[in-house]
Amino acid sequence: MASLNDNAPALRVRDLRKTYDNGTQALKGVSLEVAPGDFFALLGPNGAGKSTLIGIVSSLVNLSEGQVDVFGTDLVRERSAAMRLIGLVPQEINFNLFEKPFDILVNYAGFYGVDRAEAEKRAEEELKRAYLWDKAQVMSRTLSGGMKRRLMIARAMMTRPRLLILDEPTAGVDIEIRRDMWRVLKEINAAGTTIILTTHYLEEAEHLCRNLAIINHGQIVTQGPMRQLLAKLDVEGFLLDIDGELPAQLPLIEGTTMTATDVHTLDIDMPRAMDLNRVFAALNASGIRVRSMRTKSNRLEELFVRLTGNQETSA
Ligand code: ADP
Repeated sequence: MASLNDNAPALRVRDLRKTYDNGTQALKGVSLEVAPGDFFALLGPNGAGKSTLIGIVSSLVNLSEGQVDVFGTDLVRERSAAMRLIGLVPQEINFNLFEKPFDILVNYAGFYGVDRAEAEKRAEEELKRAYLWDKAQVMSRTLSGGMKRRLMIARAMMTRPRLLILDEPTAGVDIEIRRDMWRVLKEINAAGTTIILTTHYLEEAEHLCRNLAIINHGQIVTQGPMRQLLAKLDVEGFLLDIDGELPAQLPLIEGTTMTATDVHTLDIDMPRAMDLNRVFAALNASGIRVRSMRTKSNRLEELFVRLTGNQETSA
Protein backbone atom coordinates (compact mmCIF):
# COMPACT_ATOMS: atom_id res chain seq x y z
CA MET A 1 0.00 0.00 0.00
CA ALA A 2 1.44 3.38 -1.00
CA SER A 3 1.80 5.90 1.77
CA LEU A 4 2.82 9.54 1.91
CA ASN A 5 5.90 8.55 3.86
CA ASP A 6 7.44 6.13 1.39
CA ASN A 7 10.42 8.38 0.76
CA ALA A 8 11.00 9.39 4.36
CA PRO A 9 14.00 7.97 6.18
CA ALA A 10 13.25 4.87 8.24
CA LEU A 11 14.58 6.79 11.22
CA ARG A 12 15.49 10.42 11.58
CA VAL A 13 16.88 11.64 14.89
CA ARG A 14 17.53 15.35 15.32
CA ASP A 15 19.49 16.90 18.16
CA LEU A 16 18.26 14.32 20.61
CA ARG A 17 19.01 14.91 24.26
CA LYS A 18 18.26 12.82 27.29
CA THR A 19 18.92 13.75 30.87
CA TYR A 20 17.81 11.15 33.41
CA ASP A 21 16.19 12.23 36.67
CA ASN A 22 19.47 11.79 38.52
CA GLY A 23 21.10 14.36 36.22
CA THR A 24 23.00 11.92 33.97
CA GLN A 25 23.18 13.34 30.46
CA ALA A 26 22.97 10.14 28.45
CA LEU A 27 22.47 11.81 25.06
CA LYS A 28 23.96 15.22 24.32
CA GLY A 29 22.55 16.18 20.96
CA VAL A 30 22.47 13.10 18.73
CA SER A 31 21.49 13.37 15.07
CA LEU A 32 21.36 10.51 12.65
CA GLU A 33 19.45 9.19 9.71
CA VAL A 34 18.78 5.62 8.63
CA ALA A 35 17.61 5.00 5.06
CA PRO A 36 14.69 2.68 4.30
CA GLY A 37 15.93 -0.85 3.70
CA ASP A 38 19.22 -0.23 5.46
CA PHE A 39 21.00 -2.55 7.85
CA PHE A 40 22.42 -0.10 10.34
CA ALA A 41 24.69 -0.63 13.32
CA LEU A 42 24.90 1.55 16.37
CA LEU A 43 28.22 0.89 18.00
CA GLY A 44 29.67 2.16 21.19
CA PRO A 45 31.26 1.12 24.46
CA ASN A 46 29.30 0.56 27.66
CA GLY A 47 27.56 3.67 28.87
CA ALA A 48 27.83 5.39 25.47
CA GLY A 49 24.07 5.93 25.23
CA LYS A 50 23.04 3.14 22.86
CA SER A 51 20.27 1.68 25.01
CA THR A 52 18.97 5.13 25.81
CA LEU A 53 18.72 5.94 22.12
CA ILE A 54 17.08 2.60 21.29
CA GLY A 55 14.80 3.02 24.31
CA ILE A 56 13.62 6.42 23.08
CA VAL A 57 13.02 5.20 19.53
CA SER A 58 11.01 2.25 20.83
CA SER A 59 9.06 4.48 23.24
CA LEU A 60 10.37 2.85 26.42
CA VAL A 61 12.22 5.99 27.48
CA ASN A 62 10.96 9.56 27.22
CA LEU A 63 13.17 12.01 25.38
CA SER A 64 14.18 15.31 27.01
CA GLU A 65 14.69 17.37 23.85
CA GLY A 66 14.92 16.83 20.13
CA GLN A 67 12.94 15.12 17.44
CA VAL A 68 12.58 11.53 16.33
CA ASP A 69 10.55 10.31 13.42
CA VAL A 70 10.02 6.87 12.01
CA PHE A 71 9.16 6.78 8.31
CA GLY A 72 8.11 10.41 8.63
CA THR A 73 5.88 9.75 11.66
CA ASP A 74 6.72 11.90 14.67
CA LEU A 75 7.42 9.78 17.71
CA VAL A 76 6.01 12.25 20.21
CA ARG A 77 3.02 13.67 18.35
CA GLU A 78 1.96 10.43 16.63
CA ARG A 79 3.27 7.94 19.12
CA SER A 80 1.01 4.97 18.50
CA ALA A 81 1.30 5.29 14.70
CA ALA A 82 5.10 5.41 15.01
CA MET A 83 5.13 2.45 17.38
CA ARG A 84 3.15 0.35 14.93
CA LEU A 85 6.02 0.69 12.46
CA ILE A 86 8.58 -0.69 14.89
CA GLY A 87 9.44 -4.17 16.10
CA LEU A 88 11.75 -4.48 19.08
CA VAL A 89 13.93 -7.42 20.04
CA PRO A 90 15.06 -6.76 23.60
CA GLN A 91 18.27 -8.10 25.01
CA GLU A 92 16.68 -10.44 27.52
CA ILE A 93 14.56 -13.44 26.59
CA ASN A 94 11.15 -12.48 27.88
CA PHE A 95 8.59 -14.90 26.50
CA ASN A 96 6.76 -17.46 28.57
CA LEU A 97 8.98 -20.57 28.71
CA PHE A 98 5.92 -22.74 29.36
CA GLU A 99 4.26 -21.78 26.11
CA LYS A 100 4.89 -23.30 22.69
CA PRO A 101 6.61 -21.16 20.02
CA PHE A 102 3.56 -21.24 17.76
CA ASP A 103 1.28 -20.02 20.57
CA ILE A 104 3.77 -17.35 21.65
CA LEU A 105 3.72 -15.86 18.17
CA VAL A 106 -0.02 -16.13 17.63
CA ASN A 107 -0.83 -14.62 21.04
CA TYR A 108 1.64 -11.79 20.51
CA ALA A 109 0.06 -10.87 17.18
CA GLY A 110 -3.39 -11.12 18.79
CA PHE A 111 -2.29 -8.61 21.42
CA TYR A 112 -1.51 -6.21 18.57
CA GLY A 113 -4.91 -6.74 16.98
CA VAL A 114 -4.02 -9.23 14.24
CA ASP A 115 -6.90 -11.67 13.67
CA ARG A 116 -6.41 -15.33 14.48
CA ALA A 117 -6.26 -16.77 10.94
CA GLU A 118 -3.78 -14.13 9.82
CA ALA A 119 -1.72 -14.60 12.99
CA GLU A 120 -1.49 -18.35 12.39
CA LYS A 121 -0.37 -17.78 8.81
CA ARG A 122 2.28 -15.33 9.95
CA ALA A 123 3.43 -17.61 12.75
CA GLU A 124 4.12 -20.36 10.25
CA GLU A 125 6.01 -17.98 7.97
CA GLU A 126 8.08 -16.52 10.76
CA LEU A 127 8.90 -19.85 12.38
CA LYS A 128 10.04 -21.15 9.01
CA ARG A 129 12.17 -18.08 8.37
CA ALA A 130 13.75 -18.48 11.81
CA TYR A 131 14.43 -22.21 11.18
CA LEU A 132 12.06 -23.11 14.02
CA TRP A 133 9.10 -24.65 12.23
CA ASP A 134 9.97 -28.13 13.49
CA LYS A 135 9.92 -26.69 17.02
CA ALA A 136 6.55 -24.96 16.69
CA GLN A 137 4.82 -27.28 19.16
CA VAL A 138 7.51 -28.00 21.74
CA MET A 139 7.65 -26.34 25.13
CA SER A 140 9.78 -23.21 24.66
CA ARG A 141 11.88 -23.93 27.67
CA THR A 142 13.36 -26.93 25.82
CA LEU A 143 14.73 -24.72 23.02
CA SER A 144 18.46 -24.07 22.87
CA GLY A 145 19.77 -20.58 23.62
CA GLY A 146 20.14 -19.83 19.93
CA MET A 147 16.61 -21.03 19.15
CA LYS A 148 15.20 -18.86 21.92
CA ARG A 149 16.88 -15.83 20.43
CA ARG A 150 15.59 -16.63 16.96
CA LEU A 151 12.13 -16.97 18.46
CA MET A 152 12.48 -13.45 19.89
CA ILE A 153 13.16 -12.19 16.37
CA ALA A 154 10.27 -14.18 14.88
CA ARG A 155 7.95 -12.74 17.54
CA ALA A 156 8.99 -9.15 16.78
CA MET A 157 8.27 -9.78 13.08
CA MET A 158 4.68 -10.88 13.78
CA THR A 159 3.40 -7.30 13.60
CA ARG A 160 5.14 -6.84 10.23
CA PRO A 161 7.27 -3.91 11.42
CA ARG A 162 8.95 -1.77 8.79
CA LEU A 163 11.79 -1.10 11.21
CA LEU A 164 13.23 -3.89 13.34
CA ILE A 165 15.38 -2.78 16.25
CA LEU A 166 17.66 -5.13 18.15
CA ASP A 167 19.40 -4.16 21.35
CA GLU A 168 22.61 -6.19 21.57
CA PRO A 169 20.94 -9.30 20.18
CA THR A 170 23.95 -11.54 20.52
CA ALA A 171 25.45 -10.39 23.80
CA GLY A 172 26.98 -13.37 25.54
CA VAL A 173 26.10 -15.99 22.93
CA ASP A 174 28.64 -18.15 21.16
CA ILE A 175 29.75 -17.80 17.58
CA GLU A 176 27.58 -20.59 16.11
CA ILE A 177 24.47 -19.06 17.59
CA ARG A 178 25.48 -15.62 16.40
CA ARG A 179 25.93 -16.89 12.85
CA ASP A 180 22.48 -18.51 12.90
CA MET A 181 20.97 -15.22 14.00
CA TRP A 182 22.88 -13.32 11.35
CA ARG A 183 21.41 -15.58 8.70
CA VAL A 184 17.87 -14.89 9.88
CA LEU A 185 18.49 -11.15 10.15
CA LYS A 186 19.97 -11.01 6.66
CA GLU A 187 16.90 -12.73 5.26
CA ILE A 188 14.58 -10.33 7.05
CA ASN A 189 16.54 -7.36 5.74
CA ALA A 190 16.68 -8.81 2.20
CA ALA A 191 12.88 -9.08 2.30
CA GLY A 192 12.69 -5.30 2.85
CA THR A 193 12.64 -4.65 6.60
CA THR A 194 15.00 -1.94 7.78
CA ILE A 195 17.17 -3.18 10.66
CA ILE A 196 19.01 -1.23 13.32
CA LEU A 197 21.10 -3.10 15.82
CA THR A 198 23.32 -2.11 18.66
CA THR A 199 26.22 -4.35 19.28
CA HIS A 200 29.43 -4.73 21.18
CA TYR A 201 30.61 -7.25 18.63
CA LEU A 202 32.35 -5.10 16.11
CA GLU A 203 32.80 -8.10 13.86
CA GLU A 204 29.04 -8.47 13.82
CA ALA A 205 28.51 -4.93 12.55
CA GLU A 206 31.17 -5.47 9.95
CA HIS A 207 29.54 -8.68 8.82
CA LEU A 208 25.96 -7.46 8.68
CA CYS A 209 25.64 -3.74 8.33
CA ARG A 210 25.93 -1.38 5.41
CA ASN A 211 26.01 1.77 7.50
CA LEU A 212 26.91 2.57 11.04
CA ALA A 213 27.17 5.25 13.64
CA ILE A 214 29.62 5.17 16.49
CA ILE A 215 28.44 6.75 19.69
CA ASN A 216 30.52 7.63 22.72
CA HIS A 217 29.69 9.70 25.81
CA GLY A 218 26.25 10.51 24.40
CA GLN A 219 27.52 11.91 21.13
CA ILE A 220 27.93 10.53 17.63
CA VAL A 221 31.63 10.20 16.90
CA THR A 222 31.22 9.26 13.27
CA GLN A 223 28.65 7.84 10.90
CA GLY A 224 28.63 6.65 7.32
CA PRO A 225 28.95 3.62 5.10
CA MET A 226 30.81 0.74 6.71
CA ARG A 227 33.04 0.38 3.67
CA GLN A 228 34.04 4.02 3.72
CA LEU A 229 34.90 3.90 7.40
CA LEU A 230 36.91 0.74 6.97
CA ALA A 231 38.83 2.30 4.09
CA LYS A 232 40.13 4.87 6.57
CA LEU A 233 42.15 2.14 8.13
CA ASP A 234 45.36 1.88 6.27
CA VAL A 235 47.28 -0.30 8.68
CA GLU A 236 46.87 -4.03 8.88
CA GLY A 237 48.21 -6.27 11.60
CA PHE A 238 49.32 -9.89 11.26
CA LEU A 239 50.66 -12.60 13.48
CA LEU A 240 53.26 -14.71 11.74
CA ASP A 241 54.08 -18.22 12.95
CA ILE A 242 57.77 -18.80 12.48
CA ASP A 243 59.64 -22.01 11.68
CA GLY A 244 62.20 -22.41 14.45
CA GLU A 245 63.00 -19.47 16.68
CA LEU A 246 63.15 -15.77 16.04
CA PRO A 247 66.58 -14.09 16.29
CA ALA A 248 67.11 -11.82 19.28
CA GLN A 249 67.55 -8.90 16.91
CA LEU A 250 64.62 -8.50 14.53
CA PRO A 251 65.36 -7.06 11.07
CA LEU A 252 64.23 -3.55 10.21
CA ILE A 253 61.77 -3.37 7.36
CA GLU A 254 60.83 0.14 6.39
CA GLY A 255 57.20 1.04 7.01
CA THR A 256 56.54 -1.89 9.35
CA THR A 257 56.65 -2.31 13.09
CA MET A 258 57.54 -5.72 14.46
CA THR A 259 57.59 -7.26 17.89
CA ALA A 260 58.11 -10.83 18.98
CA THR A 261 55.03 -12.13 20.82
CA ASP A 262 57.10 -15.18 21.78
CA VAL A 263 60.08 -16.88 20.13
CA HIS A 264 57.86 -18.47 17.47
CA THR A 265 55.45 -15.63 16.77
CA LEU A 266 56.05 -12.31 15.12
CA ASP A 267 53.56 -9.48 15.48
CA ILE A 268 53.75 -7.15 12.52
CA ASP A 269 51.88 -3.99 11.48
CA MET A 270 52.19 -2.74 7.93
CA PRO A 271 50.45 -0.39 5.53
CA ARG A 272 47.55 -2.13 3.81
CA ALA A 273 49.04 -1.40 0.39
CA MET A 274 52.41 -2.92 1.24
CA ASP A 275 53.59 -5.89 -0.83
CA LEU A 276 53.62 -8.95 1.42
CA ASN A 277 56.20 -10.68 -0.80
CA ARG A 278 58.66 -7.90 -0.08
CA VAL A 279 58.09 -8.41 3.65
CA PHE A 280 58.54 -12.18 3.39
CA ALA A 281 61.69 -11.76 1.27
CA ALA A 282 63.19 -9.38 3.83
CA LEU A 283 62.35 -11.79 6.66
CA ASN A 284 63.82 -14.70 4.71
CA ALA A 285 67.01 -12.76 4.14
CA SER A 286 67.33 -12.56 7.94
CA GLY A 287 66.78 -16.30 8.27
CA ILE A 288 63.16 -15.98 9.44
CA ARG A 289 60.83 -18.43 7.71
CA VAL A 290 57.12 -17.86 7.96
CA ARG A 291 55.05 -21.01 8.37
CA SER A 292 51.61 -19.41 8.50
CA MET A 293 49.99 -16.08 9.12
CA ARG A 294 46.83 -14.80 10.75
CA THR A 295 45.12 -11.45 10.67
CA LYS A 296 45.82 -9.99 14.06
CA SER A 297 42.88 -7.83 14.76
CA ASN A 298 39.44 -6.90 13.76
CA ARG A 299 39.62 -3.89 11.47
CA LEU A 300 36.49 -2.36 12.82
CA GLU A 301 37.82 -2.64 16.31
CA GLU A 302 40.92 -0.73 15.27
CA LEU A 303 38.71 1.86 13.66
CA PHE A 304 36.68 2.17 16.79
CA VAL A 305 39.72 2.61 18.97
CA ARG A 306 41.13 5.16 16.60
CA LEU A 307 37.97 7.20 16.42
CA THR A 308 36.96 7.15 20.04
CA GLY A 309 40.27 6.69 21.78
CA ASN A 310 38.45 4.17 23.92
CA GLN A 311 39.90 0.76 24.62
CA GLU A 312 36.80 -0.90 26.12
CA THR A 313 35.42 -2.17 22.88
CA SER A 314 35.17 -5.90 23.15
CA ALA A 315 32.50 -7.83 24.94
P1 ADP B 1 24.85 1.88 26.57
O1 ADP B 1 23.60 1.23 26.13
O2 ADP B 1 25.64 2.43 25.43
O3 ADP B 1 25.67 1.03 27.49
P2 ADP B 1 23.12 3.55 28.21
O4 ADP B 1 22.20 4.27 27.29
O5 ADP B 1 22.60 2.36 28.92
O6 ADP B 1 24.47 3.20 27.41
O7 ADP B 1 23.66 4.57 29.31
C1 ADP B 1 24.10 5.89 29.00
C2 ADP B 1 24.34 6.63 30.30
O8 ADP B 1 23.10 6.86 30.96
C3 ADP B 1 25.20 5.88 31.29
O9 ADP B 1 25.98 6.82 31.98
C4 ADP B 1 24.19 5.23 32.20
O10 ADP B 1 24.73 5.04 33.49
C5 ADP B 1 23.09 6.27 32.24
N1 ADP B 1 21.76 5.68 32.46
C6 ADP B 1 21.16 4.71 31.74
N2 ADP B 1 19.92 4.44 32.20
C7 ADP B 1 19.73 5.27 33.26
C8 ADP B 1 18.65 5.49 34.19
N3 ADP B 1 17.50 4.81 34.09
N4 ADP B 1 18.82 6.43 35.15
C9 ADP B 1 19.97 7.13 35.23
N5 ADP B 1 21.02 6.98 34.41
C10 ADP B 1 20.92 6.07 33.43
